[in-house]
Amino acid sequence: MELDIAIIGGGPAGSSTALALLNQENYRIGILESSSQPVFRIGESVPPSIQSLLARLGVRIDLTKAGHLPALGNCSAWGDNTLGFNDFWTSVGGQGWHLDRAKFDRSLLQTAVDRGATVLRGVRVVGCDRASDGRWILNLNPQTGSTTQITASFVVDGSGPRSVFAHWQGAYTVHMDSLLGLAGIFSLNGVEAVKPGYTLVEAVELGWWYAAHLPEDRVIVTLMSDRDIIQQHGLSRLDAWMAALQKTHHVRELVKGATQPLKLEIQPAFSQYLDKISGDGWLAVGDAAFKVDPLSSAGIYKALRSGINAADAIGQFRAGQEQALLSYHLQTQHQFELYLEDRRKYYSQETRWASSPFWKRRQGKIALSPKTSLYFQSSSQAMARLKQLDRHLPPNDLYRLCNLCNSSDDSPRCASEVVAEFLAQTTQKFSAYRPIEALEYLIEQQVIQTVFLQ
Ligand SMILES: Cc1cc2nc3c(=O)[nH]c(=O)nc-3n(C[C@H](O)[C@H](O)[C@H](O)COP(=O)(O)OP(=O)(O)OC[C@H]3O[C@@H](n4cnc5c(N)ncnc54)[C@H](O)[C@@H]3O)c2cc1C
Repeated sequence: MELDIAIIGGGPAGSSTALALLNQENYRIGILESSSQPVFRIGESVPPSIQSLLARLGVRIDLTKAGHLPALGNCSAWGDNTLGFNDFWTSVGGQGWHLDRAKFDRSLLQTAVDRGATVLRGVRVVGCDRASDGRWILNLNPQTGSTTQITASFVVDGSGPRSVFAHWQGAYTVHMDSLLGLAGIFSLNGVEAVKPGYTLVEAVELGWWYAAHLPEDRVIVTLMSDRDIIQQHGLSRLDAWMAALQKTHHVRELVKGATQPLKLEIQPAFSQYLDKISGDGWLAVGDAAFKVDPLSSAGIYKALRSGINAADAIGQFRAGQEQALLSYHLQTQHQFELYLEDRRKYYSQETRWASSPFWKRRQGKIALSPKTSLYFQSSSQAMARLKQLDRHLPPNDLYRLCNLCNSSDDSPRCASEVVAEFLAQTTQKFSAYRPIEALEYLIEQQVIQTVFLQ
């Protein structure tokens, strides 16, 4: 098959990119999706603004008639145990939705097919080559049959947080945390729903819970916490998870009398971004480009939005504007930096558990003093350790930070100088938190030493 644009992944970002491109021109577009049929996905709450994005993409779905549930807003016990309400109607107008994700993703894909895109399901993209004329050759591994190939002038990586194609192009995923979601589905079975139109969020010492009603009389309940905390407390076991749920004030009331889940779904929910979001003849969209904390309930909205931005960049690139892909990369990375600021602000509103590692990691509380002297002892051991680290900054920036710790005469430098120099050298619009948090991480991992000068 010969395509203008191959899109890897048929999630909201892949479909949105296809639809926005088809709004521009009748490109030959192929969407390659590894699952053979729509599967259950965690991630269902969307704000009222989703409607305007769908309209812009030309998707005309009556979400109520299609079986999705209207959402009136959010209520949260965050900062104290009292439940606060944020109604969509009075805050932004309109109503949001609790989606049936499999159905929603399928209807976006179907709209793309109706407009002329080719969707290949049950087809995993397993590798790529580049022909001498610059076209991409994608190797596909269909669930049935042997490996086949397709060629495309341009590739969109919409493969979700694994960012498969971007990694083949040498991009690196930077993780900001190790957040996991442990989700259980309760069946109401005739039990009357409590606050059915609201997404409920409740902070606890080990993280936070959220609950939302799903179509077909179900309630999804998810505990969000860090991987090490989950391991330490055995929370991925259903009995321990249920016991933790019973200690909540509000979430447990929502599922009182409902039939308990038989198993838990465990989903990574790391905040992460790619250090390279586009390159010659390709770009990444949605979670493949960057992924946000589910607290924002913005993943699907962001995926649709990034598809629209990506299509604009591809259109400009094909029209000869070479800078369009670089601008897309910079614009997307800037959005991630703004998101990190919002995340810090929101988590800082919860002050009840000052010594809880979960909350300390997210509130931007800096333990490192600007006057602390830092030293990097370059050795094969330190370099090997550094290669294994994947948090806060890309590997080349972590390495640069290490080198900045030593002054020209190989003596230690104070943290404030290291941070100032790093920010002066970088071409990215990082806030000072980024190098400071990375330094704390490198000290914790014993790659950088703190030195006490007499
Ligand atoms: C616990 C949790 C709760 C969440 N809650 C919400 C919420 O309430 N509201 C919200 O808006 N968002 C939420 N999200 C986030 C939301 O689900 C994602 O942001 C959204 O799905 C991103 O869409 P996407 O198209 O970028 O990626 P995805 O939806 O992940 O789609 C990627 C697609 O690529 C396919 N694929 C992967 N590799 C290959 C390959 N090699 N070849 C072919 N196909 C491939 C996959 O099968 C998949 O269909 C939540 C996420 C988590 C983890």
